[in-house]
Amino acid sequence: MRVRGLGRVKRYVRRMTAPFRSQAVILMYHRIFEASLDPWELCVSPQNFSEHLEHLRRHYRVLTLPHLVRLLKTSELPKRAVVLTFDDGYADNLWNAKPLLEHFDIPATVFVTTGYVGLNREFWWDELERIVLLTPQLPKSLELTLQGSRYTWELAEWADRPVITGNMGVSEWGTLSNGKLTSRHKAYTDLHCLLRPLAHEERRTALARLRSDMGVSGNGRSTYRPLTLEEIPKLANGSLVEIGSHTVTHPVLSAQSMTIQRQEMVESKRSLEKVLGRPVTTFCYPYGDVNKTAVELPNEVGFDAACTTGGRTVTSGVNPCLLPRTFVGNWNGEEFAKRLSKIFTQ
Ligand SMILES: [Zn+2]
Repeated sequence: MRVRGLGRVKRYVRRMTAPFRSQAVILMYHRIFEASLDPWELCVSPQNFSEHLEHLRRHYRVLTLPHLVRLLKTSELPKRAVVLTFDDGYADNLWNAKPLLEHFDIPATVFVTTGYVGLNREFWWDELERIVLLTPQLPKSLELTLQGSRYTWELAEWADRPVITGNMGVSEWGTLSNGKLTSRHKAYTDLHCLLRPLAHEERRTALARLRSDMGVSGNGRSTYRPLTLEEIPKLANGSLVEIGSHTVTHPVLSAQSMTIQRQEMVESKRSLEKVLGRPVTTFCYPYGDVNKTAVELPNEVGFDAACTTGGRTVTSGVNPCLLPRTFVGNWNGEEFAKRLSKIFTQ
């Protein structure tokens, strides 16, 4: 039997009881940086981040991730709890985010992709952006052979016109009018889809080929660099920043064998523990992608918790190896307050 309007009533009850439910929101940041181009909406400006922290300080109980995990075990989750996390391990987490975290006395976890630490290179998605969107002069047509298939993109009149600005994320590029959605945008999104599931070495080779075909340097932009080995203990110094693992090479884990998945977790954990001299207990799945058959793997290799995506609140009973997180965009304080409040009342 189906009672009409029952869904509406349930939603209403859920909304009305939300302020009384014990739940937490784990926020997912990547970079604190003012970017002129940000296809994946990874950057939050220092000004906006400062407004987020001020709001959190006043209206929420901000916990460390390990503290939240402990509370989940004992079902003692407070109301309106928030945890901050940063993915990937950009150097701006130390130089731009940490001083603001200290100013507001707010803790956070930074998930580091250890294979990129100390490299004078960008994360692969940033390198692809630099090659395809930002290089002033590209050949009229762009070619790449991957796993035996040959792909071609005709850049035509956009070959000598880089996409210089545009904070619009990839998800909104489809709404650009014909004249603005360029062949460079198209080549970038196609290449991103093709490169993302590849094994690390295969992707490196493909990027090297693209760079050499287009005469682009492998050296990354200094403002896009990952943390160095010396910067990791500096970031972890004090009581506010916890370092977690984000694998070695940032693979799509579900596309890898179980051996590779385990290796990615174990090796990144081990190298972070060597640098920090203490256990690393939290993990974060690259792209939020979880292999359904390997959900317990983080626990098996010694992590207490693992974060994914999903935009939901965390309530007691959740699997600690599947902690959902919520994306944070480059919103000002008012917008951030509105969106966060909405998540808690959904
Ligand atoms: Zn990541």
